[in-house]
Amino acid sequence: LNSIGDAVLSTDMEGQITYLNQAAEKMTGWSCDDATGQALTKVFRIINATTRATAPNPARLAIKKNQCVGLAADSVLICRNNEEVAIEDSAAPIHNRDGKVTGAVIVFHDVSASRDLTLKMSNLAQHDFLTGLPNRLLLMERVSQAIGNARRHKNQVALLYIDLDFFKHVNDSLGHAIGDKLLLAVAKRLQAAVRATDTVCRQGGDEFVVLLAEIESPEAAAHVAETLRSSACKTVQIDNHQLHASLSIGISLFPDDGDNVDHLLQSADTAMYHAKGMGRNNYQFFRADMNVQAVKRLSIETGIRRALLKGEFLLCYQPQIDLLSKTTTGIEALVRWQDPEQGLISPAQFIPIAEASGLIVPLGQWVLREACRQLQAWHEAGLLTVPVSVNISALEFGQKDFISGLTEILQETGLSPNMLELELTESVLMKDAEAAIVVLESLKSMGVGLAIDDFGTGYSSLSYLQRFPIDTLKIDQSFVQDIATNTDDASIVSAIIGMGRNLRKRVIAEGVETQEQLDYLQSNQCVEGQGFFFSQPLPAKEFPQWLHKR
Ligand code: C2E
Ligand code: CA
Ligand code: CA
Repeated sequence: LNSIGDAVLSTDMEGQITYLNQAAEKMTGWSCDDATGQALTKVFRIINATTRATAPNPARLAIKKNQCVGLAADSVLICRNNEEVAIEDSAAPIHNRDGKVTGAVIVFHDVSASRDLTLKMSNLAQHDFLTGLPNRLLLMERVSQAIGNARRHKNQVALLYIDLDFFKHVNDSLGHAIGDKLLLAVAKRLQAAVRATDTVCRQGGDEFVVLLAEIESPEAAAHVAETLRSSACKTVQIDNHQLHASLSIGISLFPDDGDNVDHLLQSADTAMYHAKGMGRNNYQFFRADMNVQAVKRLSIETGIRRALLKGEFLLCYQPQIDLLSKTTTGIEALVRWQDPEQGLISPAQFIPIAEASGLIVPLGQWVLREACRQLQAWHEAGLLTVPVSVNISALEFGQKDFISGLTEILQETGLSPNMLELELTESVLMKDAEAAIVVLESLKSMGVGLAIDDFGTGYSSLSYLQRFPIDTLKIDQSFVQDIATNTDDASIVSAIIGMGRNLRKRVIAEGVETQEQLDYLQSNQCVEGQGFFFSQPLPAKEFPQWLHKR
């Protein structure tokens, strides 16, 4: 008995200790000598772990029933020095030769390790590994509780669906370790910004959900959303990076926007999507018409997939013109969707959806390949010798393999890199200017031309503008449009022209439609222009004709 791992003790019929093995001595803190003759309840004090009530004496039970009994679940032994150990085991009656009961034996062992493990496992199952926040499972439970309470008390519940803007970009450019730290920092800020009764949960990836279990009014939910948004915005120092988290938040309310957990979550998710569409870094309440929009968005998304497979996209080309000599200095490729039923669809209708769904990546690849192929064909036919400009979206530019994909396309089509110019908007470049410079530098060293599109509408910092190795500034058409009528726009245009000249960049005025606009641009020494005044964007098969006519 002294060599086994289980603790064993025995009692006589009166419940007095008659024996303790070594393991029992160690666990109870009593030596066999001290314990012998003592009452079992003194040496083997057991209570229920949760209620802390004294547990029934197992030896007495075994004797009374004359059978083996298991110890009550969740038992804790209080040792001689008042330390507590979780235990598990059983008691059995002792019989003499005649079969008469003479006492009882209790066998027990320490289960604290496995009980801890069980607790930890159930905690793990309900919490997120990285942030320690409740996970989806626990959230669902809490939301349905909150809904139940709200029904009884006739109050409101709000769900805030939160998505980190551009998180993928952080992950891709700075690595997962930094991405994880950013998520942790955001989790902490969210948690700090809500009440103790509210639940912040990590839904997975870069998505969080906040449950406001009891709110007085929709305005209260809006207030929380704004607090969350602005607290996440503040700079966070991660390793040697200064990062800002920007949040898109969708809000749904019980009972108006859904009467069960799934429905409420769905509504909040839809509203969050809407917040993304509204330029990110903002919050939006769910509205019923968002569902209509969501359905439309989804059908366009499916349409884009199909169009990519069936080859329903085509490119139009719009010339860029030297304002003095009127010669063609370049052409811009602009994508169109030739839908068999709806006809020609303009990019304004599908590019934003392609961007949000990630489909812009395969679509952009197609555009690049097709533009390069077409240009090379025209070059070889001796039709023209100018470069082609291709629009590149943020998501494409952020792809790790953007440059290798581009190199492949150039090799495949045979187009010389200096016959290709990429158009990027200020916001794409300024989002992570340092990372952008690295990519731009390598594009530059390949010989590819670079342009800033829609210039003047974003927030370029002048110091960056100098560091970006770009060749061309394209003045946004909104300024050009109002040159003749709006003196502010006119001075912006002449300022950009002057700045471009000083920085030795090529300047192209976009959206030139009238002689008046052309006159103003010329009197301000703008060198190039693009717009309906010279030509609409033309399908590839009409473009050679246009060239001939000129
Ligand atoms: P953007 O890059 O600023 O392209 C110029 C837009 O202005 C084109 O619209 C063009 O048709 C239009 N435009 C040209 N001249 C005039 C004019 O004199 N007056 C007016 N009012 N408009 C003029 P489009 O083709 O509908 O394209 C809209 C936007 O869609 C583009 O703006 C660009 O941001 C995006 N886009 C077009 N093709 C692609 C593409 O292949 N990839 C990507 N990522 N975006 C594209
Ligand atoms: Ca453009
Ligand atoms: Ca533009």
